[in-house]
Amino acid sequence: MKILVAVKRVVDYNVRIRVRADGSGVETSGVKMSMNPFDEIALEEAVRLKEKGIATEVVVVSIGADVVQEVLRTGLALGADRAIHVATESEIQPLAAAKILSAIVAREQPKLIFLGKQAIDDDCNQTGQMLAGLLGVGQGTFASKLVIENDGANPLPPVGAGEGNYILVTREVDGGHVTVRLPLPAVVTSDLRLNEPRYPNLPSIMKAKSKPLAKISAEELGVDITPRIRTLKVEEPKKRVGGIKVDSVAALVEKLRSEAKVI
Ligand code: AMP
Repeated sequence: MKILVAVKRVVDYNVRIRVRADGSGVETSGVKMSMNPFDEIALEEAVRLKEKGIATEVVVVSIGADVVQEVLRTGLALGADRAIHVATESEIQPLAAAKILSAIVAREQPKLIFLGKQAIDDDCNQTGQMLAGLLGVGQGTFASKLVIENDGANPLPPVGAGEGNYILVTREVDGGHVTVRLPLPAVVTSDLRLNEPRYPNLPSIMKAKSKPLAKISAEELGVDITPRIRTLKVEEPKKRVGGIKVDSVAALVEKLRSEAKVI
């Protein structure tokens, strides 16, 4: 079973986000960038499935300028077998990312397509859902547990010895957990509690340098990646002011009336 994992290069989660002076977006120059944390979790799960003998190959893919090769090398150090860089200098919005990924899925034919539930730069939380829609396959979003099921009684043709035909995805939803059963191929997006990703060690970082990394241009895939959303302005949120304690209910009501103007 081949697994494709989409990994995005984003501002590191430890960095305090700053808005560019001209309000055109978030400052990324001179800022530490890393693999999106949810994508690390997705990749860790894929690598664990390989270590258990369920997956046969783990392929990482990233879309963007040449710098995204850094996160692909990290992905290879974390256990992926090979990497695909879809090169473009254009802004890639979720629909464009989903179209590019669906073209890669058509070429690679993975049984499981793994993404993060959201990229922490724009917090869109859209790409996985759009990708499943474009591919016409099932989706298990916000996954906190995965079980590949080897169901001999299912009506689908077997996908190969030792491979499951269905995946059980436990999803984190507002009211608790919900488990869905999806035929493979399927799209799964990872939530925070799925696993705790490993750190790459020195030997695996060295080994990653010689693993295959293929580069393909977004144009070659023949998909329309024109941005559909125009950002008018990005602003810092208003600074929060500290709270105060009031002595009585009457004082609280008075403040709600005169300052907060909610009653
Ligand atoms: P989003 O819908 O932007 O919150 O992104 C959700 C997920 O889609 C991410 O966690 C990645 O797995 C994948 N993704 C989005 N953009 C890219 C990209 N440029 N390269 C690779 N994967 C991406």
